Amino acid sequence: MQDQIKQQIERLRSRGATYVDARWYPFEESDQFLMWNGNLKNAASSRESGIGIRVLYQGAWGFSAASELGNLPGLFDQAFENAQVAAERVTFPVRLAEKEALQASFESPCRMNPFEVPLADKVAFLKEMDGRLNQTGVTQRICNLTFLRKQIIFTDSEGSRIEKLITEVFAGMQANGLDENGETFERSFRLGRHGDSRGWESLDRPFFAENADRIVRELNQVLAADVCPKEERSVILLPGIMYLQTHETIGHALELDRILGYELAYAGGSFVTLDDFGKLRYGSEKLTVRADATLINSPGSFGFDDDGVPAQDNLLIDRGILVGAITGRQMVEEANATARRPIFSGSSGADRATAFYRVPIERMTNINIDPGQDGTLEDIIAHTEKGILMDGDRSWSIGSNREQFHFATEIGWLVEDGKITQPVKRSTYKSDTLKFWNALSAVGDASTWEVKYVDNCGKGQPNQAMQLGHGVPVCRFDNVRIGE
Ligand SMILES: [Zn+2]
Repeated sequence: MQDQIKQQIERLRSRGATYVDARWYPFEESDQFLMWNGNLKNAASSRESGIGIRVLYQGAWGFSAASELGNLPGLFDQAFENAQVAAERVTFPVRLAEKEALQASFESPCRMNPFEVPLADKVAFLKEMDGRLNQTGVTQRICNLTFLRKQIIFTDSEGSRIEKLITEVFAGMQANGLDENGETFERSFRLGRHGDSRGWESLDRPFFAENADRIVRELNQVLAADVCPKEERSVILLPGIMYLQTHETIGHALELDRILGYELAYAGGSFVTLDDFGKLRYGSEKLTVRADATLINSPGSFGFDDDGVPAQDNLLIDRGILVGAITGRQMVEEANATARRPIFSGSSGADRATAFYRVPIERMTNINIDPGQDGTLEDIIAHTEKGILMDGDRSWSIGSNREQFHFATEIGWLVEDGKITQPVKRSTYKSDTLKFWNALSAVGDASTWEVKYVDNCGKGQPNQAMQLGHGVPVCRFDNVRIGE
């Protein structure tokens, strides 16, 4: 098969294609389970295989994909013909940033392949978690498991050949309850990085049981709590909401295709412009953000992107100043040409597709905030005069260019004179993105830093749901509007 792919790539090169690549998926499988109040509501499995082919001809892309590999020359011809048609109406000829040709492989850390675990064990795990949530105050219990496994063999006309085997396990629990007015509240837990691998073994039963007890306890606090006050306070965000704050107001805002206007028709643009790189003060000096695809054991670490560029650890924001973006080979060339200056020295290795039948686009890797110098969570609380500690994402809304936001959290606890005084319900906060990050006044140390997983980040047309991670510490922001 690989020899045939190589032959076809060479054939199209000899017909005038400037670049050709193929992503062959020998298999891609997924399993999804949802248990609702002890009943298995959803058990869905899929298994597919196929190939996606990109051809660049006279500055235009052509793409074709199929699960049936019987007529490989026909498939390659189709991608080539699509590129030829597109080349007739190209306004901005595609160029690709330089990269090295690599012969390499990557395997995500996994000791027990979840697809070899019997179905009965998966249901038993869900049953156990569901039973653990079945306590006073809980009216609805939701437990879910998702397993993904895929093999990708990437070959291109520049001499690269990269083989990847990726396994993902996602798991979550949610407890819902009703307060005295009949309003529903929820508290949830989702598995993030736990240990050094993410196969079936990452479903650590005692760890889930402990978290089940915690979310039920906290749900009951919320159900009995006063409503969050409407005022300005210092907001202390735990990783369970910090990850989403980072995702929505840094990660998405710094995708280079979005900055260039490519996502406008779907999920909006970005307030960031090409002029901003190297000078925009994005946040306070306490803010250092990186796109780290080399982080051990996270869905945002995949070895090599779908342009065949190796994983990197790049600064996005250096002590508050914007210095980098989430980029692929095509967009860095387009951005440098548009700006008429070399902003980006090469691809950051963040071009990814969700399936063989989709084209790669700029996706977040692990968008992380460096731990800071302001101590533990207890230290930060002790040094907060009038604040609110928040956790869990309940709802969010974002400006179309990511310039402002409103988040509701599952739980809040008021902080007065360095001490937690009481839980509150309907806790929310809102701000303008740059004002908020510039109000960052404390960043917790490594003891507060956790890697949260995102299993369904949406982007692109047609939509591509992607997996990634966020390593984030506890952070405090001053003078933030809450409760509105
Ligand atoms: Zn997203």
